Amino acid sequence: MTPEEFRTAGHALIDWIADYRKSVPSLPVQAQVKPGDVARQLPAEAPVAPEEFMSVLADLDRVVVPGLTQIQHPMYFGWFPSNAVLSSVLGDLAASGLGALGITWQSAPALTEVEEVVVDWMRRLTGLPAQWRGAIHDTASTACLVAILAAREQASDYSEARGGLQSEQAPLTVYTTEHAHSSVAKAVALAGFGMDNLRLVEVDPDTYAMRPDSLRQMIEEDLLRGCKPAAVVVSIGTTGTTAIDPLAEITPIAREHGLWLHVDAAMAGSALFLPEMRWLVDGISEADSLAWNPHKWLGTVLDCSLLYVRDPQHLVRVMSTNPSYLRSTVDGEVTQYKDWGIPLGRRFRALKLWFQLRLDGPEAIRARLRRDLANARWLADTAEATPNWRVLAPVHLQTVCLRHEPSHLVSTGGDILDGEALDAHTLAWADAINASGAALVTPSRLNGRWVVRVSIGAELTELSDVEAVWKLLREKAGATLQ
Ligand SMILES: *Cc1c(COP(=O)(O)O)cnc(C)c1O
Repeated sequence: MTPEEFRTAGHALIDWIADYRKSVPSLPVQAQVKPGDVARQLPAEAPVAPEEFMSVLADLDRVVVPGLTQIQHPMYFGWFPSNAVLSSVLGDLAASGLGALGITWQSAPALTEVEEVVVDWMRRLTGLPAQWRGAIHDTASTACLVAILAAREQASDYSEARGGLQSEQAPLTVYTTEHAHSSVAKAVALAGFGMDNLRLVEVDPDTYAMRPDSLRQMIEEDLLRGCKPAAVVVSIGTTGTTAIDPLAEITPIAREHGLWLHVDAAMAGSALFLPEMRWLVDGISEADSLAWNPHKWLGTVLDCSLLYVRDPQHLVRVMSTNPSYLRSTVDGEVTQYKDWGIPLGRRFRALKLWFQLRLDGPEAIRARLRRDLANARWLADTAEATPNWRVLAPVHLQTVCLRHEPSHLVSTGGDILDGEALDAHTLAWADAINASGAALVTPSRLNGRWVVRVSIGAELTELSDVEAVWKLLREKAGATLQ
């Protein structure tokens, strides 16, 4: 394809994207396809001869759009928001168009330096400590793995340069809670700690937040047992209920025992744009690393996850592919991002953030986040005030965990009379909503029972949409009992 052919096709594609985005509110939220429906519409073999651009574009409408759950829909209340604001889409397109190769500073100086500056803008916008440095990773799962590897090397005094974990005398242990994201256990497994050495610290039964006293006790027991406590992963906004582990009470314990403290704020990090929400990370200056996803609520197109560390020199020493392990980041004049994470080749991901911040501006982003927090408060307060509805976890952010509790299944005192029937009821009304295509919510397990998460924060979701989903919840929950 020549630049002139690209120009013509590209204009058509931009028009198509704009039309598609305008049409999203009229589409079913949950994809109405069955397994195999999409693949069946594609030929088994790749085309032999080149096709017309317009026939490819037509297949976006015919095959692709019906095969997508509409995450940008105003009635999307599933998992977590995964906004893709159009200003950042432009930055992503520019990044692809530039075709830059980020393997060293020299291969694309602007790729490195725009990332350094934008990541620091984001640090300032979220109030993180001045000396912290960061990089953009694909996902919070990768960022967590990188942090856990840094923790492993701190605890083992750079065992990677010797026999690795295989030559360690004492098992290294990691602490988190059962509410931490599955990527934490995955990182612990992949980093070679072994699942036997992942400790699930008790949580407060009402808030689902880590109990610092229980963490301390587990560490002390492990020390007596001959283990070496290596890291604690604190969740600021768990995926299930957006529980907030008490960071300020956990940091002294981590410091006292020399543990690496990683903060997973994948979802909640966006809230740090709001000064009134910075309490979420009280104590952060005593932590070692923090990861969060602009690609969730903030609205930067997937994939954009920020990992900040207090001591970049340590990270570089762990991740460096150069044999000179003692080299520090300040030795050279430039940042080599290949030494800040796992991949060598990196995309120009900073552009989508750069475009978004410059084109939308932080104030408009803050206004949207405040809107969503207020809408979640409205839903929680309304549900609390409605007979037979219960809000099952504190609402600190934009996610509300709800259950419809009919009187014959749950007593007025809150005792569950028939758990199996309650679960069946919850799944029935939630699945009915999702199957209808009118809205999407996520059933999820909490304390061994099904609840329904209503996660507010799609870019297009206004209070009227939250009112509409609340009406739908009541209709479907009532309807399934008839
Ligand atoms: C979404 C989420 C993750 C994983 O994010 P990815 O970027 O999809 O890997 C990790 N932790 C929490 C708390 C999350 O909400």
